Amino acid sequence: MSENSKSTTCSYCSTGCNLNIDLDPDGVVKKIRGVAEYPVNLGKACAKGLNLTEPFVSRERGTVPLLKTEEGLKPVSWAEALETFCSRMKAIHAEYGSESTAFISTGQIPSEEMALLGSIAKFGMGMLHGDGNTRQCMASAVVAYKQAFGFDAPPYTYKDFEETDTMIFVGANPAIAHPIMWNRVKMNKKDAKIIVLDPRCTKTAQAASHHYPLAPQSDLTLLYAVANLLIERGWIKQDYIDAHTVGFQEFKAHITDYTLERATKESGLDSDQIEELTQLIHDGEAVSFWWTMGVNQSHQGVKTAQAMINIALMTGNIGRPGTGANSITGQANAMGSRLFSNTTNLLGGHDFTNAGHRRKVAAILNISEKRIPDRPSLPYNKILEDVKEGKIKALWIIATNPAHSWINLNEFDEIVSKLDFLVVQDIYPTTATAKIADLYLPAAASGEKEGFFINSERRLGHVSKVLDPPGEAKSDFDIIYKLAETWGCGRWIERWSSPEKVFQILKHLSAGQPCDITGIRDYAHLDECGGIQWPLHLEQGLESNERRLYEDGRFFHSDGKARFCFRGSEVPGEVCSSEYPFWLLTGRGSVAQWHTQTRTGKVEKLKRMYPENIYVELNPNDAERLGIESKDRVIIASNRGSVEAEAAVTGDVAPGQLFIPMHYEATNRLTFPAFDPESFQPAFKSAAVSLKKKND
Ligand code: SF4
Repeated sequence: MSENSKSTTCSYCSTGCNLNIDLDPDGVVKKIRGVAEYPVNLGKACAKGLNLTEPFVSRERGTVPLLKTEEGLKPVSWAEALETFCSRMKAIHAEYGSESTAFISTGQIPSEEMALLGSIAKFGMGMLHGDGNTRQCMASAVVAYKQAFGFDAPPYTYKDFEETDTMIFVGANPAIAHPIMWNRVKMNKKDAKIIVLDPRCTKTAQAASHHYPLAPQSDLTLLYAVANLLIERGWIKQDYIDAHTVGFQEFKAHITDYTLERATKESGLDSDQIEELTQLIHDGEAVSFWWTMGVNQSHQGVKTAQAMINIALMTGNIGRPGTGANSITGQANAMGSRLFSNTTNLLGGHDFTNAGHRRKVAAILNISEKRIPDRPSLPYNKILEDVKEGKIKALWIIATNPAHSWINLNEFDEIVSKLDFLVVQDIYPTTATAKIADLYLPAAASGEKEGFFINSERRLGHVSKVLDPPGEAKSDFDIIYKLAETWGCGRWIERWSSPEKVFQILKHLSAGQPCDITGIRDYAHLDECGGIQWPLHLEQGLESNERRLYEDGRFFHSDGKARFCFRGSEVPGEVCSSEYPFWLLTGRGSVAQWHTQTRTGKVEKLKRMYPENIYVELNPNDAERLGIESKDRVIIASNRGSVEAEAAVTGDVAPGQLFIPMHYEATNRLTFPAFDPESFQPAFKSAAVSLKKKND
């Protein structure tokens, strides 16, 4: 690395690539490339990472705080912004109580900032409720792991992509969504079977050895039927089940109803396909299951994830190289949010409802136990419900854009109009959400501050400061810390005065937990090792930097055993009808697009890689029947509203199904607001819609 080259961790997806950024003497970015020796990306980076910093120099960057006046948002000093935040939040607290203010955070900021935010808001300002946009991407996986393994602990390391001989992707499209993980798949030298369960013939499915285009939302039934067949044929590892699990007999009894006949009827696959899939699992010596949003964003995401975990357990495909029931997360620091955001979990993977945990955390932080709530926050959707009902009067939104991304978007404007005070902290004042704020706080981007992210394989990666933020923009860390000082949160916050200090606090909090990171010295240690996976406790040497969990067959429940978790499969809240005969699927459109496009939408090179305006993919049979050709203008309607889009006729979608990328603001004017009952994750993949040519 040259003198003018710095490295940092990419802040888009959960792969966690490390990037070298070359700067000229004036500090202008000249070139970005993947770090060759970093064990995640091995020198590679996708188009988003290679253009990481371009959105940071956009003219749209926020450089000063803005306060709403009758003429719109007007610049104010930081002193006025901080004072306004504190006085208005305090007034609302005083009048309506501690449940009247809340925050919505993100998987995009470093763990130290998440922890500071969750701690200041809850222990300092007295808020009870705060959740993250991570609820929208992987909450179902969290609940699935906690129930099955006793802790939210994904088993795998990326090396498993290379060591598996049978990899089964369910509702996952890594060729588009996680291109560098997909690169690891392509490095597999075992002539591995790549099996894809997805209604669409995605780029991943096109490259697979086996694609099973099952009907939307039939994955739970299919997986139960496969488990049933494996048991009927004796293709299970009884020794492993007896030694390491609880609940197998109950699971076995439960799935006897999931016959081949039922699975063919519900999934649309024929019996040969289901038998073939079962045989492939049996034949594999190292079988791995991988899932993302196609599973998590479902009305039964938790149980679908657990159906894969159950098959992995009963076939002994866990804790060995190339195996596992493996959730791939979405955002760069979704995994950090799971452990350190202080929202669903108390800091460090502790439990708000556990008095012993509250005592431990209070002692480490040197605060009164009474400051720690004895219950977790309301989930995201319930926070918005309480806003709608007028119970929550003030909302503090950090680095997320719900005015674009919320599942029931038609209702969002009405919901936020009920607020007395909306604060948005973001790198841009031009996001759909920032534009409607009462107070906007300009934040630094990820390459402009310090901290760590945790990627999908539990690896802590250093996010280092490469550039200065523009104007008066501050890191989220500095903004939150200054708010805490202005609020008067007390002397205890003095120990939290820098990301480095908070990193040491988080290490201390993790001691003795499954996510113990006491063995990681500091940021320099992360840099020296190419990131470090948790756990690494104090006495543990780093013998390998590609470590998986459960190799000793011990899980995190007190008896050391994993649980078989299951429930009956259920019909989604909305199904197709004569009025709305199409099933709408949503997902990532291209490698070049990221979520609501607040950053990728500002990079000309990326914008050339996808259609600027919203489009809908439909099957040629449906197109012919409706007289639609590619590029025709069409209207898609659900019972929540309608959207005009350009038609894209393709055999990649099945008859009766439509696909619209999630990146366009109008998409979520169609989606149906159903939620998994255990994770409260929105079910973005199931809405019934109609389609017609415009002017028909
Ligand atoms: Fe960044 Fe993900 Fe692309 Fe890697 S794969 S460069 S982490 S967006």
